[in-house]
Amino acid sequence: MRKTYLNFSLPFIGEEEVNEVAKCLRSGWLTTGPKVKKFENEFSNYIGCKHAIAVNSGTAALHLALDAIGLQRGDKVIVPTFTFGATAEVVRYFDAIPVFIDVDPKTFNISPGKIEEYLNYHNDEISHIKAIIPVHFAGQACDMDNILALAMLYDLKVIEDAAHAIPTCYKDKIVGTIGDITAFSFYATKCITTGEGGIIATDNEEWVQRMTIMQLHGISKDAWKRYTADGSWYYEIHQPGYKYNMTDIAAAIGIHQLNKCDLMYNKRKNIAKQYNHAFSTLDAYLSTPFVYQNKVTYPHAWHLYIIQLNLENLTINRARFIEEMKKRNIGTSVHFIPLHLQPYYQKTYGYKKGHFPNAEKIYERCVSLPIYPKMTHEDVRDVIESVKDIIAKFKL
Ligand SMILES: *Cc1c(COP(=O)(O)O)cnc(C)c1O
Repeated sequence: MRKTYLNFSLPFIGEEEVNEVAKCLRSGWLTTGPKVKKFENEFSNYIGCKHAIAVNSGTAALHLALDAIGLQRGDKVIVPTFTFGATAEVVRYFDAIPVFIDVDPKTFNISPGKIEEYLNYHNDEISHIKAIIPVHFAGQACDMDNILALAMLYDLKVIEDAAHAIPTCYKDKIVGTIGDITAFSFYATKCITTGEGGIIATDNEEWVQRMTIMQLHGISKDAWKRYTADGSWYYEIHQPGYKYNMTDIAAAIGIHQLNKCDLMYNKRKNIAKQYNHAFSTLDAYLSTPFVYQNKVTYPHAWHLYIIQLNLENLTINRARFIEEMKKRNIGTSVHFIPLHLQPYYQKTYGYKKGHFPNAEKIYERCVSLPIYPKMTHEDVRDVIESVKDIIAKFKL
């Protein structure tokens, strides 16, 4: 048994990040400036998108994306129920309505079949439905061909929530170059981090202009241009914008995280491989993540490694499994509690338990295991041994 507690997640921060942040602090330029520009340029080069706008969270990125497409009060946006709160709350910022859709039981991604079913049965609402926000759950891309086909047919915008998905490929494309706008998150637990942060990727010039203005008070020029020698003191407020700009301190971290994106990806992929191998003999008691067998560069970003317990063959439930892991000094988590089970959405829209059986079934059984580049070989071994030990003790 482990002597020390293994965190569920820890960032992979080296001397490069520490030195870059120190340099930034010593430079006297702390807020949005040259490091943010550099980070945006390097990010768009890495992804292959035309434009990248760095902001202070993934939630801000989603909010600005919905603002750019002109979402209005009373509009509807299709969102998977199995996601983090941010995906739907940004729709509420506009007093618009999130329409929850069930997920695919294998991938946990929004089901295009269920979207189509909804659109077919709610013909009277079609003119109000403006967008779909697919979430590339855990780091595997959604069925984008079918989502894009539905979006085309019903004239919907596709705003991808790629908080888990860097780097992720869908067929020959990398996530960030597929839908209309893609929002990434650099929260501390995500694939790459800036502490808090996010970025918006798009090829559309008009939306870039709108999002650039809205991210900083609706002002037409950013602070960097205004206060340096080649800028001027003059500014105009064109909209009541937001305060969503990324700091140079955060970008200093991001520049080096992006450099290590592939290295970190390979480390996570390697952990996933070890888990898959170790748990292959336990398939009566738990299932490992389903991955499409596509020959692409990044089939799955492995932001999360989620097992599903086969409760029929165990004497304990999920909560008890997590407790047992904790007793063995292993941190785990649950991603996520379906949104239609949350009090706010139940109270506001009348959602109830039973509405989305796939998400509910996954939720009752899912446990996220630690998967991050800082984990040592011993850490991975300890997770595997703990899972095996619990199964042996509590199998029927
Ligand atoms: C983390 C996350 C977000 C929000 O990102 P923040 O940077 O924390 O605002 C949005 N959607 C999903 C699915 C996430 O996991």
